[in-house]
Amino acid sequence: MRIAVASGKGGTGKTTVAVAIAMAATEPVMYADCDVEEPNGSIFLKPEVYEIKKVLVDVPVIDEEKCTSCGKCARFCQFNALVSLGTPPLVFPELCHSCGGCAIVCPADAISWKGNSIGEISLGKADGGRVSVVQGKLDVGGVLAPPVIRQVKSHIPHDGLSVIDCPPGTSCPVIESIGEADYVLLVTEPTPFGLHDLKLAVETVRELGMPFAVVINRFDEGDLGVEDYCGEENILIMVKIPHRRAMAETYSRGGTLLDGIPEMREIFKDIPRIIERGIEEK
Ligand code: SF4
Ligand code: SF4
Repeated sequence: MRIAVASGKGGTGKTTVAVAIAMAATEPVMYADCDVEEPNGSIFLKPEVYEIKKVLVDVPVIDEEKCTSCGKCARFCQFNALVSLGTPPLVFPELCHSCGGCAIVCPADAISWKGNSIGEISLGKADGGRVSVVQGKLDVGGVLAPPVIRQVKSHIPHDGLSVIDCPPGTSCPVIESIGEADYVLLVTEPTPFGLHDLKLAVETVRELGMPFAVVINRFDEGDLGVEDYCGEENILIMVKIPHRRAMAETYSRGGTLLDGIPEMREIFKDIPRIIERGIEEK
């Protein structure tokens, strides 16, 4: 079963929750860090990395011998990755989305392809080998998160338990990350900002037709707006995590939620089974 852990905004404790599910599980689990702009699950899981692979995407190469400088490719490109001023086009690889369209419209067959690095994938093992970790990381200045996320997802097994740490927000990288998950946990905080972003996230998962529940982090530090909203919308609140000073101290030293609040281990251990039962009943 694939559980995606998402949130409408950053800093709500999404990674805390994803890591806690992986660490509380007693069976082998895959932790997939799709938050490729800021992957930080490994800070807490501390995997032994055994392989690092570059993520390459195809970008155009212009054959200046064949190019007639007609500019069709540059006019076609929606991403301004090609600029032609009556000359063979200049290519800006970091803007290219590898759609392939420029080669299709080129009348002179002047465009071929080369691999351009946009990020990397690392594979490792944590917790004595029980937790498999795959992490995607976008190169600095990179803008193409979805291909890196697809590479991360290609390492998630079809069987067994997997936890997908999604990017924050509701844009393309999030959709790419939660696609193919069996269930989504939306992590939020009990504040007006948290509620605002939770509503956007709920809209997104409902649009995608995915089963989901909410996790409220630091539930005892804010207002009741999120709980009231979940009640009105008939949304399951899977877990309410209290704020504890010990948790903040443990976290700052690279410890997990389960180190800071050990009594939450049993609750997090049960989450996959609760989700499984809920899916079966539907
Ligand atoms: S492959 Fe697509 S995005 Fe890249 S340069 Fe060509 S038209 Fe632009
Ligand atoms: S479409 Fe082909 S021939 Fe025209 S400018 Fe682009 S590469 Fe050159």
